[in-house]
Amino acid sequence: MSKILVIEDEQVIRELLCDNLEFDGFTSVAAASLFAAEEGLVREQPDMLLLDLNLPDGNGAEWLKKKRDAGMSLPVIICTIRDREIDIIKALDAGADDYVTKPFRIRELIARIRAVLRRAGNDSEAPALPQIGRLSIDFAARTASCNDRQTSLTTTEWQMLELLWKNKNQVLSREQIIDHIWGINDLEDSRAVDVHIGRLRKKIEAGNEPETLLTVRGFGYKLKI
Ligand code: CA
Repeated sequence: MSKILVIEDEQVIRELLCDNLEFDGFTSVAAASLFAAEEGLVREQPDMLLLDLNLPDGNGAEWLKKKRDAGMSLPVIICTIRDREIDIIKALDAGADDYVTKPFRIRELIARIRAVLRRAGNDSEAPALPQIGRLSIDFAARTASCNDRQTSLTTTEWQMLELLWKNKNQVLSREQIIDHIWGINDLEDSRAVDVHIGRLRKKIEAGNEPETLLTVRGFGYKLKI
């Protein structure tokens, strides 16, 4: 499983990045300054860095240039504010492998991380795709496969699966599922939830008895991982 060090001083962005990385099967560690990043590099031995440019104790690109000169070969993706082309050029010149612009498009960022890790030859260390029942799930690419054969999921099934995965091993009520997917809470819809869950279950479960997508009687559903 690849470990990614997120170097970002804005707490909201840092947490957003870490949450999404974890969601996609990466391990994330965070640093709010370059000083903390130096410590994190040693302590955490990350596989790659996400690096903000404007940090309280210096410029990310200048720091990266120094690290590259000192022999650091870890893949680095720079996170920068859109339209600061000069920043982007400077960052790439400093030795960044790629960059993304804020505000982030998270799916794009995850795809870029995977690509950079692949190019860096860490493919075997790229996170194993989450295994849910008999399916290997790639949330970024929205593909699901079973024994290397693609399984197709509907948009609603994807939304449900993502919600369940984010809350794995916890019980979600039908109301929570309805609220998340349809944004309304209508009793009529609780039947629809059961229908979609039933279809999803057929794709996920290997046997007749559910072992992964469980019904918790009187409460709702739980994805058991
Ligand atoms: Ca910043």
